Amino acid sequence: MDFALASPTEQQAVVSRLDHREPWGPPNLRLVCLDIDDTLIDFTAAGRHALAALIGRADMWSLWERVTEEHVARVVAGEIDYASMHRRRTQYFLAELATIGMLVEPRDPAVFEQRRKELLRRYWRLFDDVVPCLEWLAAAGVRLAAVTNASGAHQRAKLADLGLARFFDHVAIAGELGVAKPDPVMFHSVCLTIGCDPAEAAHVGDKLDTDAVGAHQAGLGGVWLDRGRGPATVPDGVYVINTLAELPELLVCEFARVGVPGVPLPR
Ligand SMILES: [Mg+2]
Repeated sequence: MDFALASPTEQQAVVSRLDHREPWGPPNLRLVCLDIDDTLIDFTAAGRHALAALIGRADMWSLWERVTEEHVARVVAGEIDYASMHRRRTQYFLAELATIGMLVEPRDPAVFEQRRKELLRRYWRLFDDVVPCLEWLAAAGVRLAAVTNASGAHQRAKLADLGLARFFDHVAIAGELGVAKPDPVMFHSVCLTIGCDPAEAAHVGDKLDTDAVGAHQAGLGGVWLDRGRGPATVPDGVYVINTLAELPELLVCEFARVGVPGVPLPR
């Protein structure tokens, strides 16, 4: 507004509005999103054990991880879908083993993948800091969403198997939505489902770029759960914790009206 041209009455009205503005304060926290694999569930340990049990040796995990990362990147880029990613990843992995003289059974990629998933389910374990953190968040009255880049209903089965389904108001699965973290659409779709502004939400995950930086750039509080992967260059505005036991204190410091017993937020 060009103040010099405003009439005395208009000037008084502007001053009055400024005088009665609400002071700035941190937003309420209405939603906490959590990644699943390697955030809630020790997925790397389970994957490592399952692969070793399947192929009879433990030194091929880094190859499996590299092949997986390459194929997931193609899903995130929209080049292939999750179903073909699983098939192609296993085909590629088995072909790589063959080049070093390892012919493992089963050779059919679909059967191999099915057996691997059965073994994975046997080895899934929660990290020790998960249940106390989820219980605190539930008591604090925030809504909870699990937000994963994995595919399919097995993610829900995983949460149910480990007794976590009761905590979550919503489960967002990239393979079902057709979009994956760090795309802001993934984070915004969860906020829309819950009915909150991105500024009223935080997302916590073990991958710095996919989880924490992606969430931060989408307007949520981005929290990197560094379970010992560091060191890394963390952009300004992205929070870092080393265990979920540190999450309550971080949220209380950065958001208003969270962790106040008996003062639940509107649901
Ligand atoms: Mg993860």
